[in-house]
Amino acid sequence: MRRQGPAATAANANASLLTGNLSTRRKAWRRPLSCRAGASGRDRFRELIALFALVDVNAMFASCAAAEDPSLRGLALVVAGDPSDRRSIVLTASYEARAWGVRTAMPVREALRLCPQVRIVPPDRQLYERYSRRLFEVLHDFTPVVRPVSIDEGYLDLTGCPGLAKGPLPLAAQIRRTVQERTGLLVSIGLAEGPWLAKMAADLAKKRSEGILLLRPEDVPDIVWPLAVEAFHGIGPKTAAKLRGLGIGTIGDIARAEPKVLEAFGVHGRRMRQLAMGEDRGGLPEETGPVSISHEETFAQDIQDRRQLHPILVAICDRVGERLRREGYVAKGLGLRLRNREFRDFSRQGPLRAPSARAEDLRQEAEALLARMPAAAFPCRLLGVTAHSLERAAAAAPELFPDGDAERRDRLWHAVTAVRQRFGPDAVKPLGAQPARPPRRPPSGSER
Ligand SMILES: [Mg+2]
Repeated sequence: MRRQGPAATAANANASLLTGNLSTRRKAWRRPLSCRAGASGRDRFRELIALFALVDVNAMFASCAAAEDPSLRGLALVVAGDPSDRRSIVLTASYEARAWGVRTAMPVREALRLCPQVRIVPPDRQLYERYSRRLFEVLHDFTPVVRPVSIDEGYLDLTGCPGLAKGPLPLAAQIRRTVQERTGLLVSIGLAEGPWLAKMAADLAKKRSEGILLLRPEDVPDIVWPLAVEAFHGIGPKTAAKLRGLGIGTIGDIARAEPKVLEAFGVHGRRMRQLAMGEDRGGLPEETGPVSISHEETFAQDIQDRRQLHPILVAICDRVGERLRREGYVAKGLGLRLRNREFRDFSRQGPLRAPSARAEDLRQEAEALLARMPAAAFPCRLLGVTAHSLERAAAAAPELFPDGDAERRDRLWHAVTAVRQRFGPDAVKPLGAQPARPPRRPPSGSER
């Protein structure tokens, strides 16, 4: 028997959500959620055309350490390099440590002063990568559309997802619970009809005990407008300063600004205003690869001259080349950075002769750049090498005059990568290389 009235509408809407193809499901979502069974008052959207989630692990590095070693759970914990080193800084603090005022990028000595019982664990990139893979496996169980943005953060398109039958909040709670059960990691989840709002919601969700926030367009004036322009996802410090110069201090000010005022920011001005108004229908950001791959080392003792720096340069170029090959890229350009004793940075850039991921090509260019560094860069405390203008190794144009030697060297380097993946990074060492010391902070992946 076919039912009549609101209950029937709800049943029919849910039926299309579960069984329809994507376009039918999206149409089903356009109907007000309030007429769907199971939608509580808190869940109610006036008009919901899509649903995105931003899932972000809380204090990723510290959480991985605690998930791996149960004796660390619930403790004030920081991930940091060697605590006996005067230059060691906090890479991540657990929420328990944050309660004592310990913050990321704070010297370890300061963290110990604020919280003497704090436990310090060394960074472990492989551990974070392993947990990251598990996290994304879990997220893929909820929707096929998962877009990682960093090691501990990713967008989900939940539009038309069968799990939504009970509403967005119960689904988010289920995702959060499942991630915790299967990985031991605690996540914050922002939900909204667009990815930008979802990201803003996730940042706000971190401050809530339930770790979830659903941001409806009609909530934007109350919840988002009072925030400072610095909290606007996608606005950097320079743009924020420029906005403040124009008398625009909050996100609400952006929404209320005369379009003319925002013309100073070109097309971005219009987009900024739209987002501030809660109009976020852009879909997921384009999938992009890394812009650059870099590695840097801070030395326990300052390095006096170029000769002394050479073996460290060899080791860093080897590492950068290794990561390029492993991630399937070649670089067209290289950058070198030195920081002197007074914390002044010196950088030099140059193109590679041909796109490459071979350590010796990177080293050749790095040595040329090092020769161009001024004397004022010494004594130096930090050396960084960045491979940039990356392209996919397979897509890279072949060298103009390929020689058998280049191919042979490529095969050799890929064999080196394979050996290291199997037997560890120290299985093959470049001649004349000398690592300065263990890396002070993991070379990739941003996290909060
Ligand atoms: Mg995070």
